[in-house]
Amino acid sequence: MKWSWKIARVAGIDVKIHATFLLIIIWIGVSYYMTSGTLAAAANGIIFLLALFLCVVLHEFGHALVARRYGIQTADITLLPIGGVARLERMPEKPDEELRVALAGPAVNLIIAAVLAVVLYATGSLQGLTSLTQTSGSLLQRLLPVNLFLALFNLIPAFPMDGGRVARALLAKRMEYTQATQVAATLGQVIAFIFGLIGLFSNPFLVFIALFIYMGAAQEASMVQVK
Ligand code: ZN
Repeated sequence: MKWSWKIARVAGIDVKIHATFLLIIIWIGVSYYMTSGTLAAAANGIIFLLALFLCVVLHEFGHALVARRYGIQTADITLLPIGGVARLERMPEKPDEELRVALAGPAVNLIIAAVLAVVLYATGSLQGLTSLTQTSGSLLQRLLPVNLFLALFNLIPAFPMDGGRVARALLAKRMEYTQATQVAATLGQVIAFIFGLIGLFSNPFLVFIALFIYMGAAQEASMVQVK
């Protein structure tokens, strides 16, 4: 990917950040500073963002390392403001393999959440989920719901989310691969439409996600058609 720099190499896989990711860091720092007026708050915001993206990188490593078990290498993992992208050299075509590779990412976030819950419980600082928001509590307290969110968000059954691949893999056990992709893509577009509709009346961010899902579904459908 153009405009991205390698920051580390772990388990033979390059970890890169995209230039636009730096913009997000600056934006978070500035917006925390504007609302609180202190540099400490800005630093806190940035540390939280970096911890969040560390979880995202671990999620991508979940995909990459399970894919490796099926002989599929990963060229690199790139961090974008919208999340991480693991560039697998190819997608597993056996439904069972695709299912495991797709589920590995969200599973990593569930494991992180479980570990955080144990640590917080052991230190007596585990709170009810309803009392947690992204702007209060300690770093670990805030990372717990975020990891639950990452797992659930990625399991939405729509491309380009992992849930879209899970849906296709499950469908591909019963029908032909191209057809399974077509059905999964249509399901994704229906979900995108519902998100968009809800977003129009509530949160503009949902409209953005809806567009993102809609394009992802269309792209996946056309890619498999070409193949
Ligand atoms: Zn994923």
